[in-house]
Amino acid sequence: MLEESQYYFNRAADVLGLSDSIREILITPRRVVKVEIVTEDDAGELIHFRGFRTQHNNSRGPYKGGLRYHPSMDEDHASALANLMTWKTAIAGVPFGGAKGGIDCDPHTLTKTELNRVTRIFVERVKEIIGPTLDIPAPDVNTNAEVMGWIMDEYSRDYGFSPAVVTGKPVDLFGSLGRDEATGRGVMYALREALKDQGKSIADVTVAMQGFGNVGSHAARLIAEQGGKVVAVADHLGAVENKEGLDIPALMTWTTEHGTVNGFPGGAAFNGPDVITWPADVLIPAALEDAITEDNAPDVRATLIVEGANGPTTPKADEILLDRGIITVPDILANAGGVTVSYFEWAQNIQQFRWELDRVIDELEKVMVRAYAAVREVGKEKSVDLRTAAFVLGVRRVGRAALARHPTRETISFD
Ligand code: NAD
Repeated sequence: MLEESQYYFNRAADVLGLSDSIREILITPRRVVKVEIVTEDDAGELIHFRGFRTQHNNSRGPYKGGLRYHPSMDEDHASALANLMTWKTAIAGVPFGGAKGGIDCDPHTLTKTELNRVTRIFVERVKEIIGPTLDIPAPDVNTNAEVMGWIMDEYSRDYGFSPAVVTGKPVDLFGSLGRDEATGRGVMYALREALKDQGKSIADVTVAMQGFGNVGSHAARLIAEQGGKVVAVADHLGAVENKEGLDIPALMTWTTEHGTVNGFPGGAAFNGPDVITWPADVLIPAALEDAITEDNAPDVRATLIVEGANGPTTPKADEILLDRGIITVPDILANAGGVTVSYFEWAQNIQQFRWELDRVIDELEKVMVRAYAAVREVGKEKSVDLRTAAFVLGVRRVGRAALARHPTRETISFD
């Protein structure tokens, strides 16, 4: 995963003509932290996990990025995802850098009290390096508002009432209205803008969705509300399709009750991995990384891909899709809605002033439309695809901010 994020970075660095040493400086994380978490399970047996936090770059503001609880979490994963966050916050134009972290546990095998203990020990171990002006975590895969509330509570024990230490909190605990659906809403706006370039609207297209968690379910709901037909949805336990379009609110209720889309009566079951090559106009990978690979990319039938997940397309698959003329709205643009509303939440916490939902939605739409237009402009300026353009824009903004803070005798250009 680290190699992959560096591949896209280097493609942009080639376009910008950056030297090897500047590349090295920009790609290397400022700090990588690994901690041991030892506690007891509810039965009194010892359990232990490793926690990670990579702080990649803070030239444009405090480090910002999610916490993922997944057995595959490790240093490389945290660093690759932190790197993406740096370019993403720059593209969205929010005043943050990039970070990522998590714990290598499977929360499905832990009770709530165990998860709470594990989370609090993690905060205890990293509390000196996080904080409202230092590094602000947020939810990611297998973490949610509840976990963010625990983090705020644990941190506040040492540093006083500090809601701005973490975003994506419960609304009752100074979370922002609209944060829950923000990434999915941003994906919907990214899709809408990309379709506009093709003279189409959401109501004209069918969509296949991989992942039906926070990002996938809200994106699907909002796309369906705009008249789009979501014809196939897969999660890690099953998949369901309906040519007439799935009833997304009903599927969300089913998933809340059953923990999976599997068995949903409003459609037919199919083999989950086939969602990537499903006959639909648009494919939205919104699960984990490496979903589109050199093996399935030749068979992708969508003509537009909007990356809800981080890193869902391997570099080899990306080359195949480019050759086939399939347009990809890359993760660092398409899923920037989450960090954007995280920024709104942080700003509200610092001002101790709550925004109405309408304001959150309006401002999010403006940010997504502006970010998409900026990436499209760079694409035209440099004659490159949207992914390369997004990386060029992110690297350019971070590089210019770094130079404005630390002038160099050597002339360095990010033009
Ligand atoms: P989540 O835990 O809420 O949901 C993940 C979904 O992916 C679940 O439906 C799960 O069943 C499904 N999934 C997992 N493995 C799968 C597989 N092999 N095949 C099919 N489906 C599979 O996580 P989320 O917050 O929705 O995050 C999804 C992706 O979006 C991640 O890449 C994450 O980094 C990215 N992302 C999330 C946010 C956010 O605000 N939550 C913001 C930006 C990017």
